[in-house]
Amino acid sequence: MSILITGATGYIGSHTTLAFLKAGYDLIALDNLTNSHPESLKRVSRMAGRSCPLHILDLRDHEALQSLFQNHSIDGVIHFAGLKSVGESMDEPLRYYDNNVSGSLNLIRVMNEYQVKRILFSSSCTVYGDPEEVPVTEDSPTGQVTSPYGRTKYMIEQILQDLQTADPEWSLILLRYFNPIGAHPDGEIGEDPAGRSGNLMPWLTQVAIGKQKCVDIYGGDYPTPDGTAIRDYIHVMDLADGHLKAWEHHRESTATGIYNLGTGHGYSVLELIHTFESVTGKNIPWRITDRRPGDVPAVWADPGKAEKILHWEAKRNLEEMCRDSWNWQVRNPNGFKQA
Ligand code: NAD
Repeated sequence: MSILITGATGYIGSHTTLAFLKAGYDLIALDNLTNSHPESLKRVSRMAGRSCPLHILDLRDHEALQSLFQNHSIDGVIHFAGLKSVGESMDEPLRYYDNNVSGSLNLIRVMNEYQVKRILFSSSCTVYGDPEEVPVTEDSPTGQVTSPYGRTKYMIEQILQDLQTADPEWSLILLRYFNPIGAHPDGEIGEDPAGRSGNLMPWLTQVAIGKQKCVDIYGGDYPTPDGTAIRDYIHVMDLADGHLKAWEHHRESTATGIYNLGTGHGYSVLELIHTFESVTGKNIPWRITDRRPGDVPAVWADPGKAEKILHWEAKRNLEEMCRDSWNWQVRNPNGFKQA
């Protein structure tokens, strides 16, 4: 029996695929490669010493998904595939609803058809919107989202929970990630977005390596100590480990597990830039620009539930996140494309 990993060639998908392969799981990878490169999976297989077949297909392709489930013995799905930019979703909401919501619905329908009722879904702290209180716990109010992207995450969570209510055989794990950065310490895999990234860390490393001139900081007048937005940055290796812990904990259970995966510490954009500068010795030019629609001033996690129930906690600090992101960029100045 295998686990199907959607979005496996992407940033978090590739690090998690490596963690699961190393732990001995048999995997099947799926991706349409809109925001990733198949080389990531080749490297993952090399690093794990085990391979994992890649099926290049779109989640919205019903027949292709049916044939995948028909031809393989799949007992669960880890569902990363989706578009992930808050800013982009403000400009292209339909594309986000179509890709993320329709794609997930299609996947869930086919899973149901083939009696595969175990899913781990990549949710996000965006489901908490602009929280009244931080840190946020899993019981903090959700749904008052500030972007179409966040709404797609909230809607998919709701769809899955409605399904589980109607059919208690479904087993759900909803992981609400905070802000993953960093890379595998070997520098073999890392974040390699297609086109210009909406995420801060790839932008920072691109400025540091001379591919871009300056980092735009969206908003310098937030009600935070230095005026820039505060986020809970988490090392992608810790995040990958969180998936493994959650999957293993819920392996035999149909109880729904909802967990925040964050460090519990909030850092401002300027604090992240200064830490990156001190770790790498690089000077990062930056400028304050307008706030970006959809962004919230400050959010960070209370990760206590995952610590208590999954025995998971984020181990790597902000310096290690910056060091590993930079190492990935230096070793792969053109991302996976040079390979
Ligand atoms: P990513 O873009 O690197 O990976 C997503 C992968 O999904 C890509 O490889 C892309 O090609 C694939 N994909 C997208 N739409 C698809 C479709 N319709 N069919 C098949 N493949 C498709 O992003 P990531 O950072 O690895 O994020 C993975 C998941 O985690 C996403 O669902 C994202 O929303 C969620 N998430 C990410 C962050 C973050 O800051 N990176 C934070 C919270 C949640």
